[in-house]
Amino acid sequence: MKHVVVVGASLAGLRACETLRGEGFTGRVTLVGAEPEFPYDRPPLSKKLLKGDWEADRIRLRRADDFESLDLDLRLGFRATALDTETQHVSIVGPTDDREELGYDGVVVATGAACRRLPGQPVADGIFELRTLADALSLRAALVPRVNVVVIGAGFIGLEVAATARQRQCDVVVLEGADAPLMRGLGAEMGLAVVAIHGRNGVDVRCGVDVAGIEVDESTNHVTGVRLGDGSIVPADVVLVGIGVSPAVQWLHDSGLRVTDGIVCDQTLWAGQSGVYAAGDCARWTNPLFGDAGSGEEMRVEHWTNAAEQGAHAARNMLAVAAGREPSPYETVPFFWSDQYDRRIQFLGRAHGDDEVRVVAGSLDDKFVALYGHGGRLRGVLAMSMPKLLMPYRQLLTDRISWDDALTYASTPA
Ligand SMILES: Cc1cc2nc3c(=O)[nH]c(=O)nc-3n(C[C@H](O)[C@H](O)[C@H](O)COP(=O)(O)OP(=O)(O)OC[C@H]3O[C@@H](n4cnc5c(N)ncnc54)[C@H](O)[C@@H]3O)c2cc1C
Repeated sequence: MKHVVVVGASLAGLRACETLRGEGFTGRVTLVGAEPEFPYDRPPLSKKLLKGDWEADRIRLRRADDFESLDLDLRLGFRATALDTETQHVSIVGPTDDREELGYDGVVVATGAACRRLPGQPVADGIFELRTLADALSLRAALVPRVNVVVIGAGFIGLEVAATARQRQCDVVVLEGADAPLMRGLGAEMGLAVVAIHGRNGVDVRCGVDVAGIEVDESTNHVTGVRLGDGSIVPADVVLVGIGVSPAVQWLHDSGLRVTDGIVCDQTLWAGQSGVYAAGDCARWTNPLFGDAGSGEEMRVEHWTNAAEQGAHAARNMLAVAAGREPSPYETVPFFWSDQYDRRIQFLGRAHGDDEVRVVAGSLDDKFVALYGHGGRLRGVLAMSMPKLLMPYRQLLTDRISWDDALTYASTPA
């Protein structure tokens, strides 16, 4: 292999580059990133940076001299527009519409995800989404004391923004279409338990609400409120649309890769075409640790740890295959955290709507640990500000422990 192109200059892409060099690859590595910035960390965008505790220089993933030692051909501000897996070329376009074809021997696709929008969502002052540093800085400027903030969507990002806006003395309403917050990540019962902290901090979280549209004053082009299905209006000076993300894979439509809510990969993160791997929020792969033993479960995960690990794993497997060695499956217990007020919420594993959920430590109105079981197995563990109790479950999930054994473990004094 002479030339590896990594598309997406964020967490997964950076880790792929570092691993290529760390494993001794001395050929050319081109890192293509649509954003003009050097890679930065996204979790603080809804927390410390949004709150104003940190500035942009605190969230850089690496210093400028780290990039020099990686010896990358850096194309920041360049967007990949096509991948030709037959001739092995990536087409890129730069900030001044300069176009280039990059021939490759290997590609890591790490283009992450982009925010979903409401149907017919207007473009107006005061309406925000949150994915990039630029999004966070403009949202922060709008979060001044006593403005009315409406967050559409009670997922993790929406609730973190609600908490931070509250800490910046804004009046905050959260509107959620489902019957409970955090349904997708935690299920209804735990979603309601976690969100109780918002009520205690003066945020009005309304579930089962039908958002019909966003109202804009035509003369000022500024948002004025959110219209509900019953015709009522929730007044707003600031609206955050936090209704989830979609994998950023549109540019791959003619590539011959299988794309179904993410780039479909095998267990080794290989995307099915010579030399092409995917990693991070855009990758859908089969995780051998979940599902039926032997077959695994296809999943796409939008978590920091996964993006970091997959970027490294994809690069390692690419080098292994090029050297005639066996690639290894990417097996993992998915993990994420969320900081809201003074609480740290952590989750290991996977939650499904029909899981059995059991609180095994603490109490729901304060700190607690809850287990998620399905099909006779432990599938997930949620901790609210009890990190020490959570961590041993990573190994138990890796060992595919049964539900009964997990309950026995939980009830055994340490
Ligand atoms: C506000 C916020 C808070 C978060 N908080 C947490 C948290 O507390 N805990 C947690 O576990 N996770 C959190 N996450 C999720 C975590 O940050 C992501 O899982 C992680 O950033 C994914 O990394 P990635 O490299 O796969 O993709 P991304 O970080 O999305 O990066 C993809 C990059 O590819 C670029 N790109 C896209 N298309 C192209 C193209 N065609 N050509 C070139 N470049 C392209 C994008 O511009 C972007 O820079 C948070 C995310 C956000 C947005």
